[in-house]
Amino acid sequence: MSGANDSSDRGATEMTDDANVRRTREKVLSGELPKMDCRMTWYGPGRDGKCMACDQAIGAHEVEVECDLPNGGTIRFHQRCYTIWAEVWPSCGTAQ
Ligand SMILES: [Zn+2]
Repeated sequence: MSGANDSSDRGATEMTDDANVRRTREKVLSGELPKMDCRMTWYGPGRDGKCMACDQAIGAHEVEVECDLPNGGTIRFHQRCYTIWAEVWPSCGTAQ
């Protein structure tokens, strides 16, 4: 644990990547997020859809990644959340 500097008005609203990774991993393990490669990914402006990883809306000023899954589903992420998910899920099958 660190925490030498206490800047009280930062970090409360925005999740750190670390927290995001942990949360994404939990969702993969619980089955909320799939463990599979996307068949196709589409990048575009957000349309206020909900991100599957962080449950926040993807606003028009953000990049939305839409993934077509091999089983026919479609899921949406923030670009950053998609990157985290793509890195996290392959290690969720065997590693703890
Ligand atoms: Zn997100």
